Order: sequence, then C-alpha cells, then structure tokens
Amino acid sequence: MKIKFVYLVALLFLASCGHKQYDETVIGEEEYYEDELYLDEAEDMAKERPIYRETETILTDLIHTRLDVNFDWTKSRMNGRATITAKPHFYASDSIFLDAKGMDILKVSMENKALTYSYDSLTLLIHLGKTFTRDEKYTVVIDYVAKPDERVTGGSAAITSDKGLYFINPTGDDKSKMPQIWTQGETESSSVWFPTIDTPNAKTTQEIFMTVANKYATLSNGKLISSKQNVDGTRTDHWKQELPHAPYLFMMGVGEFKVVKDVYTRPDGTKMDVNYYVEAQWESSAKAIFGETPAMISHFSKLLGVEYPWDKYHQIVARDYVSGAMENTGAVVFGDFVYKTERELLDGNDQSTIAHELFHHWFGDLVTCESWSNLPLNESFANYSQYLWDEYRYGKDEADFQAVVETDGYYQSAQMQGYHNLIWFDYYDKEQMFDGHSYNKGGRILHMLRNHLGDDAFFKGIQMYLTTNKFKPAEFHQLRLAFEEVSGQDLNWFFNQWFLGAGHPVLDVNYDTDTMNHKVSVIVGQKQDLKLSPIYRLPVDIAVYDSEGKHVYKMLIDSLNQKHTFAYAGELKSIVFDDQKMLLAKIREEKPAEQYLFEYYNATRYKARKEGLLFGTQGPIVKTAKGQQLILDALNDTFWDIRLTAIEKAVKLKDENVGKANKLIRDLAMNDPNSGVRAAALAYLSNKLESTEMTAVCIDRLEKDQSYLVISSALKSLGKIDVELALKKAKTLESEQSSKMISGVAQLYGAHGKEDALIFFEKALKGTILQGFDQLGVLNSLTFFNVRQEPATIEKTFDLYKYMNETGGYYTKMFMSQNVAYLISMFETKMTELDEEIAAHEKNNNAAYADSARRKKKDYNALKELFLTLPTEE
Ligand SMILES: [Zn+2]
Repeated sequence: MKIKFVYLVALLFLASCGHKQYDETVIGEEEYYEDELYLDEAEDMAKERPIYRETETILTDLIHTRLDVNFDWTKSRMNGRATITAKPHFYASDSIFLDAKGMDILKVSMENKALTYSYDSLTLLIHLGKTFTRDEKYTVVIDYVAKPDERVTGGSAAITSDKGLYFINPTGDDKSKMPQIWTQGETESSSVWFPTIDTPNAKTTQEIFMTVANKYATLSNGKLISSKQNVDGTRTDHWKQELPHAPYLFMMGVGEFKVVKDVYTRPDGTKMDVNYYVEAQWESSAKAIFGETPAMISHFSKLLGVEYPWDKYHQIVARDYVSGAMENTGAVVFGDFVYKTERELLDGNDQSTIAHELFHHWFGDLVTCESWSNLPLNESFANYSQYLWDEYRYGKDEADFQAVVETDGYYQSAQMQGYHNLIWFDYYDKEQMFDGHSYNKGGRILHMLRNHLGDDAFFKGIQMYLTTNKFKPAEFHQLRLAFEEVSGQDLNWFFNQWFLGAGHPVLDVNYDTDTMNHKVSVIVGQKQDLKLSPIYRLPVDIAVYDSEGKHVYKMLIDSLNQKHTFAYAGELKSIVFDDQKMLLAKIREEKPAEQYLFEYYNATRYKARKEGLLFGTQGPIVKTAKGQQLILDALNDTFWDIRLTAIEKAVKLKDENVGKANKLIRDLAMNDPNSGVRAAALAYLSNKLESTEMTAVCIDRLEKDQSYLVISSALKSLGKIDVELALKKAKTLESEQSSKMISGVAQLYGAHGKEDALIFFEKALKGTILQGFDQLGVLNSLTFFNVRQEPATIEKTFDLYKYMNETGGYYTKMFMSQNVAYLISMFETKMTELDEEIAAHEKNNNAAYADSARRKKKDYNALKELFLTLPTEE
C-alpha cells in the first residue's frame, strides 16, 4: 500500500518544485501515545512483560475461496455466498473460526446440510459436525449480507478507512462523480465483505462470480474466465486466480469504467494482459499515465530473476479512495490523484507509485509478511523499487535525488511519531506500521545492504528469498538467511542494528591533514543517543583525491570514536566521506571550502556534487573567482536539481557575473528540458531583466510552453511587471482543465485580482479539477485576495469558505482554520486602524468622516462575527 504522510515539508516541497509529486504519499491515522494515562501507567507496566505482537496462530489452512456476489446499490449492501474449502493446519479440529465483520449471516451449510454456528458480528465459529484431520479437506458454504455502511465499530468513532467495501455515489445523485464500487482489504478489512481468515499469514486461491447490470465493467484478481448474460438483463463475470494469495489482497471493482488495453510480452514470447480501468474522460490519457507498466514488469522480472508470477496486471483508478494506492494481486487500485493529462504529466508523473505497487507483486503478494510487525518485508522493498525504477529509467542522479527526499521523509515521520525498531513487535495499533520507518527507512536500509554486498550478491539473495518463500508468509529472518546463504557472510550485525534497532547514526566527521608526511586522517565520532540506538558498524568508502587522481579506501566504523589515516601523493585536493553517498546517517562534516569546490567538479554521485555546490559557495570563497565560476558552471550541470540549486545561488554573483548568469538563466527559462528549472528561472529573472525584455520572455513562455508549472511561473513574473497584461492573460487560462494551472491563475488573482475574480474562485473551488494540495493553494489565494477587498466583497466569499469547510479535501479542511484565523486577525487590524481614524476625525471635528469610518468598522465587526462561525483552531 502507498499511504499519505502529512508533513509540512511535503507541502513546501510541492510548492517549490513541480518535478514529481508527493501528494500521493497518506493520510495517517498515526497518533501520539504519550498521553498522560499512558505515562501514569508506565511504572506499573514496567513490571509486566512487554507487548509482543505475535504472529497469528494458524489453526486452519484456507485452500480455496469462491464468492458469488451481487450488489444492492440503494442500500450499499452486498449479497454474498462464500464457498470455502479448508483443512486443519496440523491439529485435528471439529470447527473453523472465520473473521466476518458486521454481516448478516443467513445460513451455513456443508454438503447441503445446515451447520450450527455462533456469530458475534466479528467472528463466525462454525461447528463442522465431526473432527477433521490435517489430511482431510472440507467445504463450508455461507450465505450472508455484507453491510459496510452499517457496521458498528466497537464503540469508537467509525473509521472510514476500514469499511473494506465502498459504494461511491451509489444512487448517482452527485453528477460530478461516476458511481462505483471498490474494495480495500489491507489491513484486515476484507472480512467486511467475505468471511475469511483475515490475517497476512493465510493464503488461498480464489474465484469470484460478480453479477452486475450490463453497463458496468468489473475487475477482480486473476483471469476473467467467462462473462455470461443472464435472462434478467444482468451479467455475471467469473474471475479466477489459481495461485494462492493473502485475503487482504482480494479485490473487486465495479463501474462504467473504460478499459484501455496494453500488453506485456514474457521472455518466452507469450502475451499477458495489462489493462487500465479509467473513467471515460480519461480514456485518452490512460497510456500516458500508466504506459510504462509493461517496461516496469519486464525490468523488475529481469532484475529479480523471478518472472512476474501472476496471470495479468490491471490497474484501476477509484474515486474517494482512502489511501494512495493498493497492490491487490493483479488488480491494483489508485486514488484519483493519478488522473493527469499528457500536459500535466510534463510537470511530474506517478511512476514511483506505479512501480511501488507493481513491486509488491513479489514483495507482499508472492512472499507476504507473516504479521504486521514484519510489514517492512512488503513496504521497504516496494519503497526501494522506486529507486530501482528511477535508476533504470532516468539514471542514478534522479534515483539519488529521490533517495534524499525519501530519507527526509523518514526523519520527518520519526520526529513527529517517534522512533521504533523497523521490525516493530510492540506497536499499539497495527495501522502505525504504515509509517516512514516501514517505507522510507526500510528502502534506505536495503540500499545500504545492496552497497555492502554488491549488486550481484544482493539480487541473487533476493532471488533466493523469493523462490524459497514463494506463496508463503515470511519473517525478516528469512530475508537475512537468504542473503547469508548467497553471500557466505554472517549478517546478524546488519539486521540487528537496522531491522531490530531504532534511530540512525549521527556522525561527526573531521579531517586532520599532515602536509609534511602527506597523510590525512579521517576522524569519526558516533554521536547518536545510545539509549535509543546502538553503536553502529558502518562499512563506508572514503575517496581521497590527490595529485595522482582518485583513490577509494574502505573504512570500517565500529566504535564511538575512530581515526583512520590514509596517505596521499602530492597535494590533497579533496576527501569525500561515503563516496557512494549511501549511508542513512546525519553527518556533520567539516572540511575546507576549496575541497567542497573540488568535490563539485570531481565527485560522481549527485549528493556529493550538490554538497560541493552548496558548501563550495559558502563563506568568503563565494566572492573569489573560483566560487563565482562554480555557480556559473553549475547552471550548466547535467542534472536538473543542481541547475535549480545554482539558480538559487545566483543571487551571490557579483559584477559582470550577474550579466553572464542572467544570460544563462534566460536560456534555462526558454530551453531547459525540466519544467521545474524553467519555472525557477522565470521567477529568478523577474527582478533581474529589464522590464521590456522580461515581458517578452514571459509572453513567449505563456504562449509557447506546454508546462502548466512554467505558465504559472510566467504569469506570476508578469504580474510583477505589468499587472493589467498578466490579468488579461490569466483570463484566457481560467478554463484550462489543469489543477496546476487553476492554482497558478488563483495565485495571480490572490496578489492582484479585482472583485470580478470572485466568479473564478467560486468556479475553481466548487469544480472538480482541483486536486489535493492545489485546492488548498486556491483557498489560500482566496484569503490573500480578500485582504485587498472591501467588506462587501469579502462577505460574498463567506459561503465559499463555509462550503469548503464542509466538502473540501483533506488538506483544505486541515488548513481551513489557519485561513479563517488569518482573516479574523486582518479584520481586527482594520478595526484598530479605523478606531485611530475615528479618533483623528473627531479631533478635527470631521463628523461625517468619523461616521463613515464607524460604519466601516461595523462592517468589519460583522465580518468577524460571521467568520467566527467557522473553525478557527484545530
Ligand atoms: Zn506499499
């Protein structure tokens, strides 16, 4: 599963860089558990055994699950018959326990004879009528009604994300949303729509017969075996998956989806269906969105040495989806954030999410974490697939850049929610497992392991893990054993510190150069909190650059304070700690600016070159010819993020270099292949170029650039030079069907819009084009717009705030109170100013002016009262 973390950094990142979007990444239900109750109880608890989330005991082996279902759209219910074939796992038994949440159980039978059962709305205990041994299979049939919307969720507030089965706009009242049904099983919600053993260590083959009105397309796991017309005008689709998988991966989708066909060719020449289920208006964009999928299947199959194991690979886009995306076997669900036109895709695609879900088909679907504590066996690999895909498709720099983003995501998440072991046996709630540890940190750990073992051993180890454990659950020891067997190395030290430890290394790195004897010492101190984290064992590469070139040395850091000395020839040019820039560690390093400068020009990895640029232009060195030249050179770097950083650094240029940079950056604005760089270049130039020239550049981009990000930036820059012209241009862009463009226009109106912009704001916020953060961005722009308006205009916007407070998206609702508080404080400031004005008019005996000011103050006070009816604090 790919979830959405809410951190502010993500917001800032999105705002500043349109390259790739991270709004796909959760909305967590994570909470702090450091409440007072817990702290008070901590002492008592210390006397007890610590929490241990053990793996579910296997009493029964599921063998096959057949479901026959139809849907009652008006009641949001599903009528089902489950035919479950099972056997005792080891010990003989006369009963079977099934998870079945909030259902009506109508009848339970075996071979047409009714069986007795008990049911408490969570667990269905069926008495089989005789004792079965582990060599005896049996089949029970359960007739039931699933009622996801009527479930009583054990006294706590109903959590919308564990309904399992979702009817979206089932009566079709909302004309903006295509009616549809979809499911979300992970973690343990499949048992809301069929009775099963709802744990990740259960596996079963599956077939589903879905009866629907003829107009609907259906999707489920496995192959479509048949599609039969019924006499009553309905149709029954038979989907069958012959390979076993865990119940949380079961999936159904129903709706008037268009099915766009694609194909993957296996190495033996056979073809496999790869279909994209989208709403009609997105049919023409489906291949632009998902079209890399066959190439991904091919790449990952080769890399892993295990051919894609399932029958087909279909992807579907769901409305009101409760997560980012979900790896249901061969039937992957995405939230509607992936709906993007070809033009929108120029500013960032969702291939990371597509790769993530696909990789789960080996890690999660083929080999499954045996318990939620072992979730990193699923999510760390899925996270790392994003690196693997970027590396293959876009090169090492892009992969390394995304790795930095992932690393920051881990630090942020850990800071907000606390540190814990990667394999986490004492969580309070299984949903906590879906955090920056299981995903981001786990991905970085796998990268370090790959670095340590080398590509060959790493991928051979993975291949062994997959083939040894296929169609079975696994725990993290099995991963270690596979790597140990292949590499011949004991890897307990690695797994203990990274999988069974918390936190990360914090390193002080210093250098001591002995120019007399041509020696340089690397002095490393481990500074992490040892109450939380171990003393790490960290094999790293040290690159020493001297008069003869580059030499790479191995250094093993395994104590608190360490010093390694290396010889160099001639002059020491630079020294790069962790040459591969693969360590997950916070590093405080000190070395001369000249060495950083050298590092920019000579290091191989993106992160090292960026370090070189940042610190090679910091302090007095930036004023030297070399420092100035570094910024100019970085503007021509091969990698977009370095060019972007160089644009930011260009403010430090002096004299004739300013003109040189303007020329270079003007060229970036017009021609850079990356839209983020073009947009940043335009922003930089807005107060650098002479206004006629800048106007010409902006008009050129507004008319010729395809990227909405660039057009938005051009609009903003133009607004700083020629407001009237910018507003005129914005008018023509209002109707673009792009979330980014609408939010760009809103930004301009926020800064310069007149009263007539109200119609635009209303259309934008009530329309269906804005997505995720952009909706919040437009609301923020409306607030800035209001700051410049008269009370009568502001009053007209109130209903819009009210509407957004009720129907807005997650982020909009989250930041609504900030917007309201901002307005109220503006009203108060105005009233204070008016008080002063009134006093001044009275002093000067200007009664008429004083009255007018009083009326205005009254208007602001009324506005304050009005807006106070909206939330002002969280
Ligand atoms: Zn995932």
